[in-house]
Amino acid sequence: MRISDVLSTKQTFSCEIFPPKGDMSVDTAADIAHGICETKPDWISVTFSAGGSNNSANTAQIAARIQGELAPTAALAHLTCLGSSRRNVDEYVEKLLASGVTNVLALRGDRAPGREVIDFEYAADLVAYLKAKYPQVCIGAACYPEGHVECEDLNADVEHLKAKVDAGVDFLVTQLFFNNEDFYRFRDRCARARVKVPIVAGIMPFTSVKQIQRMAFNCGASIPATVVKRLVAAGDDPEAQRQAGTEYACEQLRDLARNGVDGIHIYSMNKPVVARDTYDCLVDCGYIKG
Ligand code: FAD
Repeated sequence: MRISDVLSTKQTFSCEIFPPKGDMSVDTAADIAHGICETKPDWISVTFSAGGSNNSANTAQIAARIQGELAPTAALAHLTCLGSSRRNVDEYVEKLLASGVTNVLALRGDRAPGREVIDFEYAADLVAYLKAKYPQVCIGAACYPEGHVECEDLNADVEHLKAKVDAGVDFLVTQLFFNNEDFYRFRDRCARARVKVPIVAGIMPFTSVKQIQRMAFNCGASIPATVVKRLVAAGDDPEAQRQAGTEYACEQLRDLARNGVDGIHIYSMNKPVVARDTYDCLVDCGYIKG
């Protein structure tokens, strides 16, 4: 199933997981995917560690298990290209296709020492390569409502995005954001730039102060004062912090549902409870027909 086909017929609900690393086994990650799947997401995306670590094999394995065991939920396998050769990409994509995974999120990956350009400088180069060589692959790509962290000029960022989409992107998924107005402004900017593919809004219900600080710093998302105030009110109580994150995310979700978003993607951070809380909220507000 091509994710773009689903997006052409309905507003979607999807979740993200990360593949096993450290002590986590592939079976444990698959159990997490099964838990998340109780919310019947249209797809579950699986992140990819840049730089060709062994983690990429785990991404392919978990994506294959989602695709094989959780239908009609589809797998969306992430792929970063900085530091990878065409051959690395071919090996990975052929492994995905052999297991029935046909949806790929084509990314550049973050710059890091030792991660040099080999065959691909930007995600657009990977998109063009995939489009030409694997027409059966449905290609997603990343976008940034507040601008990508390396690009200070929002208009230039959208111009680069337009070039990436024109290279063959079928749909976009946004970086997490905490202020919906940033998303609506970005959506208008994309429309003016004639970026015409569906834009799926990525929402992360924060679960702790530490987590929101780390995520916001890594991706350059701003944290509104209202979020900070709720976290201050939650104090040191981990459950109160998680509750504050769920409530805030649900407010964002209800507002997105009212404002005709193409799709909602939950950064569920390997926590089925996060998928469940957001699913319940989206059923309550009529976005998901329960
Ligand atoms: P690009 O689209 O290539 O853009 C990167 C930067 O280059 C931008 O600032 C853009 O404006 C600029 N640019 C693009 N083209 C040009 C050009 N021609 N000339 C000059 N500048 C240009 N990272 C992981 O490692 N693993 C993951 O699984 C992962 N999943 C992600 C999922 C989502 C939904 C998102 C939003 C991000 C994800 N990331 C992941 C992070 C991503 O890899 C980083 O944000 C990375 O720095 C940029 O990737 P990109 O694909 O957006 O790059």
